[in-house]
Formats: sequence, C-alpha cells, structure tokens
Amino acid sequence: MSSVPENLQHVRQQVEDACARAGRSPAGLTLIAVSKTFPTESIREAVACGQTHFGESRVQEAVPKIEALPGSLHWHFIGGVQRNKVRKILQNFEIIHAIDSLRLASYTDEVAKELGVFPKIFLQVNIGDEPSKGGFAVEALRQEMASLLQLKRLDVSGLMCIPPAGESPEESRPWFVKLRELRDSLENEFCVKLDGLSMGMSGDFEIAIEEGATCVRVGSSIFGNRAYRVDGELG
Ligand SMILES: *Cc1c(COP(=O)(O)O)cnc(C)c1O
Repeated sequence: MSSVPENLQHVRQQVEDACARAGRSPAGLTLIAVSKTFPTESIREAVACGQTHFGESRVQEAVPKIEALPGSLHWHFIGGVQRNKVRKILQNFEIIHAIDSLRLASYTDEVAKELGVFPKIFLQVNIGDEPSKGGFAVEALRQEMASLLQLKRLDVSGLMCIPPAGESPEESRPWFVKLRELRDSLENEFCVKLDGLSMGMSGDFEIAIEEGATCVRVGSSIFGNRAYRVDGELG
C-alpha cells in the first residue's frame, strides 16, 4: 500500500491536471483531506507535506485529533449534523458542509450567536432526490432561501452535494452540473454571492473540478481504505 505522502502527491497532481483541463487556477480550489477513521499520526504525515485542510464527520472522534494537532489547521465538518452536536461542532470546526434544513440552520445561527462566532456553512442539497440521503430538496431550498439568508450569523459559502452512487465517475458529472446550475440560479434570484461548491470525493473529484467545485473532499485516495464504516455516513 502506498504511503500518505505518496498518495497526497498523486492526488495533488490529479487536482492540478483537472484544473488545467478546465482552465482554472488551482488557487480557487481547496483540497480537503478527509481523515475520518484514521489516526492522528496519519494526519500528521499529511501535515508534514503541507496539507492544512481536513475533514471529519463525527464529533467525538474528531475532537481529540483536533486538540492534539497544531491550531493552525482548518477543520471541516462534513458529516450529517445532529442538533445536540451543533455547539461542539461550532467550537471545533471552521466550516460546516452539511446544513440540511432551515430548522437546523436557525438553531446553528442561535448557537453561533451565543458563542460569538460567524461560521462558514454549505447548504447540502439532495441533488439526486434520494430518500436515503440528507439535504434540502431543490424546491424546498428555493422556498427557504430567503429565510436562510436572513440568518445573520451564518456565512453561506454555497452548496454541497453527494451525488447518487454510479458505476463510473462520469455518472457524477450531470449531478455536479445540476448543483452548479442551481447555485447560479439562486445567485440570480436572490442577488447573493454563493461562490462555494463542495462536491467530489475520491471516486469523482477530477470531474467535480472540471464542473466547478471549489472544495473537494478526498479521503481514501489519500489515507487508504477505511477499515470500518462511520454510522449513518458514507463508507
Ligand atoms: C467520507 C466522506 C468523504 C470522503 O470519501 P472518499 O470516498 O474516501 O474520498 C467525502 N464526503 C463526505 C460527506 C464523506 O462522508
């Protein structure tokens, strides 16, 4: 099995190549190394190679790692957000990727006010309309966008999705296009800037970059295969 530094080097090359194909600057793209299920030592290896953005999906697992590592790192909460975890998430993470209802957003706004923080968030969209997945339905998001934008503590970066599992990476492309087009139409309709598109994982991040991703969330291609599933989460 390859090492974390080798894997990271390879993924960075793939990111660069995808940016070149799309005529984009790599500066507009954040590679989030998804370290869920992997130990602090693996994260340190990536940090030694200059990696600064990391993603975790369970609070209890992440907090000890965050506390053991340099304070200069950027932590992204990419998992489903339970209401009773909001405070801990806001205390430990800079960016939340999966705000998936107006109710959760309002509550997060309230807690952020108490804590005196202005968190960056992504709104998760259930882009393939799958019953098994979280996220706003497209129409619900349109209807609730005005209310979401009134939550003054939340810095809405943009949209996030996890497309339906396909047989090949290419199958993700139409879903990434759909998320980008939804973002564009919300920007027009609500006169708001929503620069961020959090989309693309190990299997399809190159395609996500070609379709405009600003954050790709890459786990197994950097850290190796996960030995166990995270409850209620992907792989
Ligand atoms: C685990 C996870 C990832 C990373 O998945 P890989 O296939 O290992 O790259 C990305 N996004 C979310 C939301 C995840 O839960």
